[in-house]
Amino acid sequence: MTVERLIVVGASLAGLRAAEAARGAGYGGAIALIGEEPHLPYGRPPLSKRILEAGPLPESTRLRAYETLTEDLNVELVLGAAATGIDTNRKTVTVGERSIDYSAAVIATGAAARRIPGPAETLSGVHVLRTHDDAHAVRAALDANARTVVIGGGFIGSEVACAARKRGLPVTVVEARTAPLTRSVGPDLGAALTRIHRAHGTQVSCGAEVAAIEGERGTVARVCLTDGTVLGADLVVVGIGTVPATDWLAGSGVGVDDGVVCDEFLATGAEGVYAAGDVANWHNSLFGRRMRVEHWSSAAEQGARAALNAIDPATAQPYSTVPYFWSDWYEHRIQFVGVPGHQGYEVVSGALDSDHFVVLYRDGDLLGAALTLNGQRHIMKYRNLINRRVSFDEACAYARARAASK
Ligand code: FAD
Ligand code: NAP
Repeated sequence: MTVERLIVVGASLAGLRAAEAARGAGYGGAIALIGEEPHLPYGRPPLSKRILEAGPLPESTRLRAYETLTEDLNVELVLGAAATGIDTNRKTVTVGERSIDYSAAVIATGAAARRIPGPAETLSGVHVLRTHDDAHAVRAALDANARTVVIGGGFIGSEVACAARKRGLPVTVVEARTAPLTRSVGPDLGAALTRIHRAHGTQVSCGAEVAAIEGERGTVARVCLTDGTVLGADLVVVGIGTVPATDWLAGSGVGVDDGVVCDEFLATGAEGVYAAGDVANWHNSLFGRRMRVEHWSSAAEQGARAALNAIDPATAQPYSTVPYFWSDWYEHRIQFVGVPGHQGYEVVSGALDSDHFVVLYRDGDLLGAALTLNGQRHIMKYRNLINRRVSFDEACAYARARAASK
């Protein structure tokens, strides 16, 4: 098969890496990068961190300059317009009035923030945080010293709370589960991390359910919880997870099940069509199952691998990884490698009530995951052990030997 035109749908991290990897491998055909947002590809991690800090804005969160994309990489940019369909028989993608032919395609449309449907959505001061524009709206509210309520104590909620507290603003996190970040790190470790929020003056309301978000004259005024608590608010940030951006694939024959279903090569089963990043629900052979990972490093790596496989299927390689994320809370760095779904854990360094710990999680008899608080020197060693699928006991013995050698 000659790949004359590679279409990449989604102009963010995974899409950019797809275009770069194709050119890096010497691909000389046409590349079109289609993005719904009007902006050049930009990084999302600063949106809930650096952009929300008081003081001057960072110069740019743009990942590449316009000239780099259009001249050095010779990519046709189709920005500010969503793809609305893909015809996998005729091999075309529809964007507005245009129908663009492809020989190979990478779907990298990521995910959108989940919203709380209802009248509150239209109140000024109620935001999700997914895009450049969302982040600038939240920053403006923080600049105006907003009393902040965050709904959802996951990544977004916790990082927004940190940003608000660093400015000395009152903030409450409303979390449905027993502790923030529970889905990722489990309830006990979520509770250990909650201590950090509270130590910094962030109110955390766990097991809490929102009854209503109320406004006055079109502007948010308060969040009411089902237990009767009323939280005054000038800013409400809703961080309750994401929905993979697959609506535009409806009826196309590309398989969708919590994201685009792919095999270990990131191939969708439709000829020439691959997927990458937050939208891809692919078979991670290291763990023997499908998963959708919403973190920076896997989106970047998958973008590159999907494009290489798409332009030269004869030399396609599988993609597997030990998922990795980091999150910055106040002056602390939380890092996690592996997959959630824990069957017990052991604290192998530090203590859960201190500012440093390393925790190993069990996956049956194997090491399944590791979590560190301020353990930058340790975390990647455990990622390597998980990659080698070592036993939990061997990993604990390794940790004890490291501790003894200090
Ligand atoms: P996305 O970045 O979601 O990009 C998808 C793009 O496709 C979007 O620009 C979207 O507009 C576009 N699109 C959607 N539908 C269409 C369509 N039909 N047609 C055309 N274009 C379309 N990860 C970490 O590991 N560490 C962090 O600290 C961290 N911080 C984060 C902070 C925030 C606020 C957010 C939102 C995410 C953060 N992440 C972090 C996650 C990380 O940014 C994502 O995993 C990564 O952005 C995924 O890249 P992606 O290209 O797959 O998808
Ligand atoms: P998230 O991490 O999934 O956390 C959402 C949290 O909100 C979960 O604990 C969830 O509980 C809870 N929740 C759901 N509905 C709720 C409700 N109605 N009321 C109160 N709590 C509710 O999602 P997120 O924080 O919105 O992050 C979205 C995306 O941004 C993810 O892709 C994430 O990877 C990315 N991100 C990553 C980072 C990072 O890696 N550092 C930083 C920012 C953003 P359940 O688990 O029970 O649903």
